[in-house]
Amino acid sequence: MSQIVDQLAELTGLRDRDTLDVSLVSSIRDLLHPRSVAVHRVVGDSGDERWLTRAHLGIDDVAARADSSWADPRSLPLLAERPQRLHCLQVAGEVQLDGEETTLLLPLVSDTGVAGVVEIVTARPLSEDVKRLLTGVLRIYRNVQGLLDYSERDTLTGLLNRKSFDETFYKVSAVPAPLKTEQRNDRRQGAPATYWLGVVDIDHFKLVNDRFGHLIGDEVLLLLSRVMRSCFRFYDQLYRFGGEEFVVLLRCSGEDDAMAALERFREAVGGYVFPQVERITVSVGFTDVRHGDSPNAAVERADRAVYFAKNHGRDQVRCHAALVRDGLLEDDKKAGDIDLF
Ligand code: GH3
Ligand code: MG
Ligand code: MG
Repeated sequence: MSQIVDQLAELTGLRDRDTLDVSLVSSIRDLLHPRSVAVHRVVGDSGDERWLTRAHLGIDDVAARADSSWADPRSLPLLAERPQRLHCLQVAGEVQLDGEETTLLLPLVSDTGVAGVVEIVTARPLSEDVKRLLTGVLRIYRNVQGLLDYSERDTLTGLLNRKSFDETFYKVSAVPAPLKTEQRNDRRQGAPATYWLGVVDIDHFKLVNDRFGHLIGDEVLLLLSRVMRSCFRFYDQLYRFGGEEFVVLLRCSGEDDAMAALERFREAVGGYVFPQVERITVSVGFTDVRHGDSPNAAVERADRAVYFAKNHGRDQVRCHAALVRDGLLEDDKKAGDIDLF
């Protein structure tokens, strides 16, 4: 009993989404000593959804194994390639397969539906009491996730908020920049290699509010966030920084790829028909994330590229480094490199 309480205390004490799934599989292993336990989540675009293993622990493993959260979706198995897991998603309930060993699949439910499955392989079927205990642990896990969402997400759009940006940014800027040759190799293998930060600002949004009112303005913000979700990959991090300013943290092979992804988004916004308002456009500025960068410095560089776009006709994507190369912007390194607060 005290072991269960310890496990739950551990789980509910976490504030980092990345470690939550690892903690869940560790707790289940310590409680049940199964042959293996894993959390698999559904990722990717609708119609091309795939399984991403967030944490897997075998009986003798010292540490949990996981797919990289930046994995190329094409390298991950399609939902239909794991039919039992898919069945568990579809029935949104327990699925048990008995044979030489028993596989128990339980749905991982989030506030927006079934987000994945927990897969537990044991030598013998688990008793009903143990299953009830597992269901209880998963309910607590869901509650912790709900609380994390509440503190890290923007209530209007459901995108991540500014608060969670800095932490993710520091993880990303701690990764050393790859050598040019590595970038080329990665590209050939289809693996992205560098991080990019894009700032998106709606053009003449004040006019939208003035003409149609704040409520319609808010609806535009919500719909814009949906366009964002549909344009970027599942591993790109999307934020609303408040107001009508949105931020994307992208991982891709280089400047051209970042430009292409953001251009695709800009075009998608331009082509979307918003109720009443009909058309809006966005100005986008982006920059590479440098090794040891600070969030303020990178956001400032991207902001300067947005400012340039605003002053040169709006409805365009501008790259900070390209503007500096072309002598259109000064690379004022000192301006943003020092965090005053
Ligand atoms: P620009 O093309 O230069 O960006 O012009 P703009 O009118 O969009 O100017 P700016 O970005 O400075 O103005 C942002 C406006 O967005 C101010 C405010 O009316 C509106 N706004 C900010 N936050 C919200 C919000 O949460 N909801 C709504 N409806 N409007 C907001
Ligand atoms: Mg603005
Ligand atoms: Mg604006």
